[in-house]
Amino acid sequence: LEEQLRKSDTLNVVGELAAGIAHEIRNPMTALKGFIQLLEGSVQEDFSMYFNVITSELSRIESIITEFLILARPQAIKYLQKNICTIMKETIDLLNAQAILENVQIKLSIEGDIPSIYCEPNQLKQVFINVLKNAIEVMQNGGQIDVCIKQRDEKHLVVSIKDRGTGISEDKIKRLGQPFYTTKERGTGLGLMVSYKIIEEHRGNVQVESEEGKGTTFHMTLPINQK
Ligand code: ADP
Ligand code: MG
Repeated sequence: LEEQLRKSDTLNVVGELAAGIAHEIRNPMTALKGFIQLLEGSVQEDFSMYFNVITSELSRIESIITEFLILARPQAIKYLQKNICTIMKETIDLLNAQAILENVQIKLSIEGDIPSIYCEPNQLKQVFINVLKNAIEVMQNGGQIDVCIKQRDEKHLVVSIKDRGTGISEDKIKRLGQPFYTTKERGTGLGLMVSYKIIEEHRGNVQVESEEGKGTTFHMTLPINQK
């Protein structure tokens, strides 16, 4: 427990620092983007390849900053009693367009009556978005993602998100959630860090089951009665 507390302390400090830095970086970024657009319009020769790289690197910086800001946004946190099935449905609606483009279907099954839980709906939505996005991204050939919500026992709900993607080797499972751990060319390696932190703050836990070449399931357990 002490180790867990220390870990979340460190994360809070990191979060506060990150928020400060992120705000400082955003303004010059806006100026950079504006001037690069002006430059692109006034340069004679065809430098479009350079401009594409510049633009895509700038948006990479932006997505890193955005994810850091999510991590460090205490003012927006508001816990309330809510049914996570609703949160999950909203999340799936949000991601369906992207999923369809990638030939992926997201199937939701809800087992039995799911009680409402005390939670921060926006944060849980963020977790579901992160995990589902990863699932979509590893299913290069399309296919089905199974989302299942059920009551595990009297005190816990489990949300499982199962993909049929690349899978993760055992030694790499340990690295999930470490800041900046990514295997993607355009990845930030922050999505799972943020997600694990949010689930921990809800006094839940994340378990990962994976088989290389077959797929991965993220099981997120959440307590029904907190506080
Ligand atoms: P990012 O998606 O930006 O790389 P994440 O924190 O979301 O950062 O994920 C970190 C890494 O964990 C990914 O780069 C990938 O290697 C691995 N990963 C996460 N989810 C999955 C999944 N469903 N299947 C296979 N690998 C995954
Ligand atoms: Mg991700």
